Amino acid sequence: MRVFILIIAFIAVTSAKDFDYNLKAIQLAKNSYYIYGKEEYFSIQNGGDIANVSFIETNKSVILIDTGSSFAYGNQVKRLIEEKTKKPVKHIINTHHHSDHFLGNNAFKNATIYSDKFTAKEIKKNGELYIKNLVALLGETMKGTKIKNVDIILQNDNKDFDGYKLHFFYLKGHTKSDLVIYDKNTNILYASDLVFNNRALATIDANLKEWVNSLNLLKKIDYDICVPGHGKAFKDKTPLDLDIKYLNFLKTTLEYGNKNGLNVFEILDLKVPKEIKNFSMFEEEYERSIINLSNKQ
Ligand SMILES: [Zn+2]
Repeated sequence: MRVFILIIAFIAVTSAKDFDYNLKAIQLAKNSYYIYGKEEYFSIQNGGDIANVSFIETNKSVILIDTGSSFAYGNQVKRLIEEKTKKPVKHIINTHHHSDHFLGNNAFKNATIYSDKFTAKEIKKNGELYIKNLVALLGETMKGTKIKNVDIILQNDNKDFDGYKLHFFYLKGHTKSDLVIYDKNTNILYASDLVFNNRALATIDANLKEWVNSLNLLKKIDYDICVPGHGKAFKDKTPLDLDIKYLNFLKTTLEYGNKNGLNVFEILDLKVPKEIKNFSMFEEEYERSIINLSNKQ
């Protein structure tokens, strides 16, 4: 009987299929792709597929920018890349410490993980907590997700990856440390979560003033394509202008609320410009932002 139960348990474990993310690589240049993340919150239905991930094929290897929310997601990114090229994913760049961007790291056993200093520290310090939080939200999907720490801290403006040069901007505003990657070879800007395209901005760790400064700097770059952290890739500067507008609106609304002694509900009742209200996920993110930031900024 005991053996029988063990066999049943074994079958149950081995046949529990990984969540199918149904990922697609969208081509941006001959050697460059991104995987579009859903404009949603973490849910059992989306398995945490809510942020964009990008990859670049070089002569010898693949550079992956962010790895998504889970081990299963990372594995499926790996399989998707294998459909495009036989070259190995050798380099992974983590843009910042939010859990929807780096928890797929451990699917890439042989890759070197890069980030800036702050992000590396945060992953090491709070990574386990991020996993715990996502297990509560995503359950089984998080199976096998473990922290794979950053191996190399990026400090310079440029780095050569197997003969393929990328340029880095060390910025802040969305978090205390946001890494932006500029690829001169393709003229593509990987803007991390400093840019959301028509998707309400997540401000949980934000400094609004610094964020606007960073966006103004990014506006000066003459890119052909910008890949945001959330929302679709785009060609012009309109999404950056709208993000600046959103952040300035948040800032002035909070200041007005404070000056006039309004409570959170009264602030939320104030009029919102139409183009901002049209952002996806506006209701949820805006409410979260007002609640979180009303005492901070
Ligand atoms: Zn983020």
